[in-house]
Amino acid sequence: MPEAARNGAGFWSDFGRLVRAVGRAMGVTLKNLGRKPVTVHYPDVKRLYPDRFRGILALTYDKETGEENCIGCRLCEYICPPQVIKVEMLKAEKRNFAKVFQLELYACEFCELCVQVCPTDAIIMMKSFDLATADRRELLLDKDRLHAIGLDFEPSWATGNRLRDMQAPPKPAKAPAAKGEAKESTE
Ligand code: SF4
Ligand code: SF4
Repeated sequence: MPEAARNGAGFWSDFGRLVRAVGRAMGVTLKNLGRKPVTVHYPDVKRLYPDRFRGILALTYDKETGEENCIGCRLCEYICPPQVIKVEMLKAEKRNFAKVFQLELYACEFCELCVQVCPTDAIIMMKSFDLATADRRELLLDKDRLHAIGLDFEPSWATGNRLRDMQAPPKPAKAPAAKGEAKESTE
């Protein structure tokens, strides 16, 4: 076959392949055109997170008395693997408080150990991760900022007391009452 004819045949076969590829791509586009989007316009639209979502950390107030729940016991500081929590206790007459509570969120591993050991559910995780910033100094959180986060976002279901209850061995079932006892009790 002359070379010009060979070049012409190559051109048409490439052209055919191109048309088929464009056709396939357009088919996929048309198929998805009417589908409901799976994405949302974050941050204008926010997804609902599951109850057990664990996000950023915060400190809480007692809902009834309005007092800070933190008693400054420092258990969270001791347990924290990367040692990003610093607490100083303030001893008071009726109860103790945290005089200083500082958390370096930029180095937090989100392991949740601090939440699990807290006896008063003072430190919890929130149903949000919305603290993105270009300046990591903003993620050095003091006590006031941690309390403000606790008021700004929805708390996760997973408080320390609930998590510890889940880990406790199940209570033994009550033994069935003896026949005589049951009779006595009905008399
Ligand atoms: S979640 Fe883990 S790493 Fe983060 S502050 Fe708590 S104990 Fe430390
Ligand atoms: S947050 Fe909880 S564990 Fe940490 S110092 Fe306060 S009371 Fe103790």
